[in-house]
Amino acid sequence: MQPVIYLAFVDDWEVRGNGTGDPRVLQFEPMRKLVNIFNAHGIRGSFNVEVMQQLAYRSLQERFPELKVIADEWEQVVLESFRQGHDIQLHLHPQWRDATYEGHGNWKLSGDWSILNYPKHEIKAMVASGKQYLENLLRKVNPAYACVSFRAGAWCAAPSDSLLPVLSELGFLFDISIVAGIKCDTPQIKLDYTRCEESFAPYYPDMRDARRVSRSVEPIVCIPTNTFPGPGLALAFMKLRQRIQKLAKRNTVTTKPSSRGRSGDEWSNKGDSGALGTIRGLLKRYLIGQSEISDLAQLNYAMMRRMMANIRRQAARSGLARVPVILENHTKDIHDFSDIERFVAAVVRSQDVKAATLTEIADGLRNSTFKARTA
Ligand SMILES: [Zn+2]
Repeated sequence: MQPVIYLAFVDDWEVRGNGTGDPRVLQFEPMRKLVNIFNAHGIRGSFNVEVMQQLAYRSLQERFPELKVIADEWEQVVLESFRQGHDIQLHLHPQWRDATYEGHGNWKLSGDWSILNYPKHEIKAMVASGKQYLENLLRKVNPAYACVSFRAGAWCAAPSDSLLPVLSELGFLFDISIVAGIKCDTPQIKLDYTRCEESFAPYYPDMRDARRVSRSVEPIVCIPTNTFPGPGLALAFMKLRQRIQKLAKRNTVTTKPSSRGRSGDEWSNKGDSGALGTIRGLLKRYLIGQSEISDLAQLNYAMMRRMMANIRRQAARSGLARVPVILENHTKDIHDFSDIERFVAAVVRSQDVKAATLTEIADGLRNSTFKARTA
């Protein structure tokens, strides 16, 4: 029997990790465009809105009235999408903790990037304030709204003695931070998900290490964010060309903060920054076959098809009749919406794929439409 795939179009909604970029350019405009695409094809998306950024804007808005204007518009765009049926869930980048603002769009973020490096009471305070903020905002539209799904900033969710217990204490039903097969070793982010015990279907996690599947039913479920095998040498060259063009452009820009912001080397692994390092990193990634995250903003249509073929293979192999699959997207990185639109249209035509929001997946876990496995 062909399993039914419940595909969640999930988007991490935020500016750059170092706080650069204009929220109007990186968040508000592209969210409206994406929502229009979803609406035109009759599906509903899910936005993991990064709340620490918004709380930083709110906390400094008395001193800097321009921050209030943007924070108000942030709420307006989120409410607008929510009213049209799209889901809003929690995403947290702790580097915004105690952020300071220097005016003219310049933020100084000094917090640690990984939530795992904070003591339990601070993790709980950050997650609780994010959840409360979203629930206060969205219950104005739907009194039954609840924050049920969590994605950690920069995927940092395991191992940790505190994060999963905190999430379950606060009423989260599932976490979507695990991306099997990736590994990061940068000054800001250290994580190793190369040996995850479940890379595809929902599972009950070891409460101290979400990379492992628990032997028993636990108070929270993990659903991995989908990954697929690296796209091979031909596409490696395409990526290399893009990367070189980007580096060349970066070397010619002035120090004036641009509206799209500037990424630092946060995602270049040790030894893989600079031009030579970039080549080394790409070769390692594509020749050794590191996993590709199913992040629509980073994929062209051919790669999306490859991703979907892999999802169908894994779904068939899982033996499940119905399986939720979590995609990723970064509104801030979308340059070309036409590939995403083409992909959405193909999904809508497919008999074996239904689009689902994160809240619908939570409902499905509650009423056993979806099953989570134990070890
Ligand atoms: Zn993020």
